Amino acid sequence: MKCPNCNIENKPEAKFCKKCGQSLIIQPVWKPTWIWHIKVLLVIYVVLILLFFLLNNLLKPFMRELPKEITPWLQKK
Ligand SMILES: [Zn+2]
Repeated sequence: MKCPNCNIENKPEAKFCKKCGQSLIIQPVWKPTWIWHIKVLLVIYVVLILLFFLLNNLLKPFMRELPKEITPWLQKK
């Protein structure tokens, strides 16, 4: 396997790089914490909510109004 530090090829069973001494034991993959999950979810929700309002405002001039005949419950008396 290759040393992640100096890219020298080492024996597959080697525990340390023969050149630089870097540990070749495979590092555990980065595991996100629950705080990270909450942060990412919050960011996604905030972005979606902002996008909704932004698009709603941007598209308002282009939206057609519904004819009053098909929405009688929206008419105020
Ligand atoms: Zn190395």
